[in-house]
Amino acid sequence: MLEFEGQVVIVTGSGSPKGIGRTIAATFAGQGATVVIADINEAGIQDTVDYITSIGGKAFGIPVNITEKASVDNMVSAIMDKYGRIDVLINNAGVSQKVTVEDMTLEDIKRIFNVNMFGLFLCTQAVLEPMKKAGYGRIVSLSSVSGKRGGGIFGGAHYSASKAAVLGFSKNLAREISPYGITTNCVCPGLINTEIWKSLPKEDADKVIDGIPMGRPGETQEVANAIVFLASREASYITGEEIDINGGSHMD
Ligand code: NAD
Repeated sequence: MLEFEGQVVIVTGSGSPKGIGRTIAATFAGQGATVVIADINEAGIQDTVDYITSIGGKAFGIPVNITEKASVDNMVSAIMDKYGRIDVLINNAGVSQKVTVEDMTLEDIKRIFNVNMFGLFLCTQAVLEPMKKAGYGRIVSLSSVSGKRGGGIFGGAHYSASKAAVLGFSKNLAREISPYGITTNCVCPGLINTEIWKSLPKEDADKVIDGIPMGRPGETQEVANAIVFLASREASYITGEEIDINGGSHMD
């Protein structure tokens, strides 16, 4: 069992009841961490906090819009005032949209990049100071198989581009922050059993499953398990890495 007792872990986008973020938060809580449930959806935050409390975990909910610097800075200040530390940041909040490049507008691209890349940048930048002062930190960002092989499941070229940008950002950041005891890594999930999967028409779902050697979508717990490892003290010599979690649907 990986040990997170006494650590404070932020999980952005963890207010989605059926989403990956909630499972990530619950998994950290199960390992002893205090988890910060950071989301734009206030009702969702309360729901996740109640769930984690009901399983005996420690959770603190904070509404945040990761696309706004002031909102992100407020979140970090509130956490530092309350706990005095931020050990782990999980950049999980993300948005998608199914649209062709022909039909895409500039506003569509901006909206997707605003959350998936620029919001991720704001959250990452905001935790660097406390992590550098502590000489310790772990950052794990949700990219996607879409960022590596160019979609094919859900979402458009703007989503793939934003998730590819996350990979480059994380690797460059790894070079900057390695001297301070901070690591930064990505995970690239394939199709995961969330609302997106449930929303696919059967014909499309069957086609996707045909391309997965394991013959099934992944579970949110399977994504959380890899993330918790990358965020642990034990993963001390891994940085700038990306882990595929896709049942074999894409390998490189
Ligand atoms: P989800 O839609 O269930 O949850 C995303 C959460 O992000 C929501 O709670 C939403 O309120 C929050 N959010 C959106 N904009 C925000 C903002 N501006 N500020 C704060 N919070 C905001 O998503 P999910 O399916 O659980 O995916 C989680 C992450 O994993 C995303 O980054 C997604 O791109 C990535 N991913 C998902 C899959 C999949 O199959 N579900 C596959 C690969 C990668």
